[in-house]
Amino acid sequence: MTAPVLEAVALEKRFGGVHAVAGVSFSVAAGEMLALIGPNGAGKSTCFNLVNGQLRADGGEVRLMGRSLAGLRPRAIWRLGVGRTFQITATFASMTVRENVQMALISHHRRVWSFLSRAAAEFRAEAESLLEQVGMLEQAERPCGVLAYGDLKRLELAIALANDPKLLLMDEPTAGMAPGERSALMDLTRSIVRARRLACLFTEHDMDVVFGHADRIIVMNRGHLIAEGTAEQIRADPAVREVYLGS
Ligand code: ADP
Ligand code: MG
Repeated sequence: MTAPVLEAVALEKRFGGVHAVAGVSFSVAAGEMLALIGPNGAGKSTCFNLVNGQLRADGGEVRLMGRSLAGLRPRAIWRLGVGRTFQITATFASMTVRENVQMALISHHRRVWSFLSRAAAEFRAEAESLLEQVGMLEQAERPCGVLAYGDLKRLELAIALANDPKLLLMDEPTAGMAPGERSALMDLTRSIVRARRLACLFTEHDMDVVFGHADRIIVMNRGHLIAEGTAEQIRADPAVREVYLGS
């Protein structure tokens, strides 16, 4: 057994009197899509922000490939391979789709110093390869500002991949999308996660997307993990039904 890509151990976070995350542990393996679900205010986004370093935990620890991320800043954590997608601010509207991906590639290679030996043509070829992987190659020369929302999300996935992440964090990746588009984006994500052996942690409100695309599901309510299992197990779990159906 290899170490999981991501391990969260007994994570705790308080905001004043609110115990937003009250001792939560989970792990994500390479090639796995793990969905974190739960009602509004359950603590999902707080967990994400503890993993990516935007928030500092009051207790517990996050490990990436066995290495503790304690005390590291968000940028250092990103460098170690924690990728985030679906932030609109990640793209520049007046630049083309290809230029946006190339910028991300240059920034990645600059940090590993391999940009010195690379020609512009190589960045271009690599950008086009990433765009092909997300089905955006035919839109490579369009400015980002004119893209449809679903295409922008695919572009943001390509930008995240340019950093060669080990873990992809997606907090409500399909928010604002039509149901048909949601499924297409998550199919694409899943095939990339499998092919690259990434670990993927995502939250999602659309239960069809969750049950259709997650390998495993964990459920939070009021800061606590209340269930963990496959789609079948989660669907049948009495505690989950109570939270969602309020019965
Ligand atoms: P979710 O993403 O599951 O909807 P959150 O993690 O955003 O839940 O929030 C969990 C709890 O923590 C909520 O009660 C929320 O109001 C509170 N909370 C989240 N972020 C902050 C913050 N920055 N300051 C104060 N309270 C917060
Ligand atoms: Mg949230």
